[in-house]
Amino acid sequence: MVRGHGGPAASRSKLPATGRGSSLVRGRVELETHQMSNMNQKSASDLRVGVLALQGDVSEHLEMMGRVGARSLPVKTPEGLEGLDGLIIPGGESTTVGKLLVRYGLDEAICRRVREGMALYGTCTGLILLAQRIHGSAQPRLGLMDMDVERNAFGRQVDSFEIDIPIPAIGGAPFRAVFIRAPFIREVGPGVEVLARLPGPGGQIVMARQGKLLASAFHPELTDDPRVHAYFLRMILGQ
Ligand code: GLN
Repeated sequence: MVRGHGGPAASRSKLPATGRGSSLVRGRVELETHQMSNMNQKSASDLRVGVLALQGDVSEHLEMMGRVGARSLPVKTPEGLEGLDGLIIPGGESTTVGKLLVRYGLDEAICRRVREGMALYGTCTGLILLAQRIHGSAQPRLGLMDMDVERNAFGRQVDSFEIDIPIPAIGGAPFRAVFIRAPFIREVGPGVEVLARLPGPGGQIVMARQGKLLASAFHPELTDDPRVHAYFLRMILGQ
C-alpha cells in the first residue's frame, strides 16, 4: 500500500534481512574500489547521503535514509554536495529538474562528485536524468549511465500503478513498486546490471545499476519497505 505524505518521523530501525548475511551496522567494512583509502573506516552511521531538494518526495527519501541508518540532508546547491557519500535524485518532472540542474550549476557539480566517488540513486525523474539516451528527447541530463530510457512509457491509461516485482539483489519477498507516470529502460550497455523487470511478457527493465550509480523507475520512498534504500547504502559501502 502506498503511504501518504507526512508519515511518522524518522526512526532508526534495524536493517531488513538481505538474505546475503550482510549488515550495515555490524562492524567496519572494506571497499574494493579506489575509494578504499578514505572509505574503509566507514560504517552506515558515518555516511552522509543527500537528497536533491528541487522537486519531489524529498522528506520521504530523507526519512528512509534515516531508517536504514545513514545521516541524510536536503541538498540544493553545488556546495551542499561536498562531503556527501551518496545523493538521491527524487521523482518530479525531468525537463524541469534538468533545467534547474543546469541553472544552479548542479549538473557539473554532481558529475564531478560522482567522478570523485559519490554514489548516486535516481528514482523515476532521477532515472531519466541519469541516462545517456532519452528516447526522442534532447532535454538536459546528467548522462552518466549507459542506457536508453523512454519517458511516460506506460501511457495515460495506466499512468500510475502498483505491482509486486522480484528484485533478487535486495533479498526477500517481491517488492511493492509504485509507478507514477514512469519511464522504463529500453536498453542497457554492457557495464549496466539489470536488477528488476516488470513481470509479464513485456519484461521492461525498471531497475538497474552501473558501479555506484543506481536507477529505479518506481518510487520506493512511497512504501514502508526500506530494502531499496538499504541496498543503496550497501552499494555506497561497497558491500
Ligand atoms: N514523467 C516524469 C518525467 O518525465 C517522471 C515522473 C516521476 O518522476 N514520477 O520526468
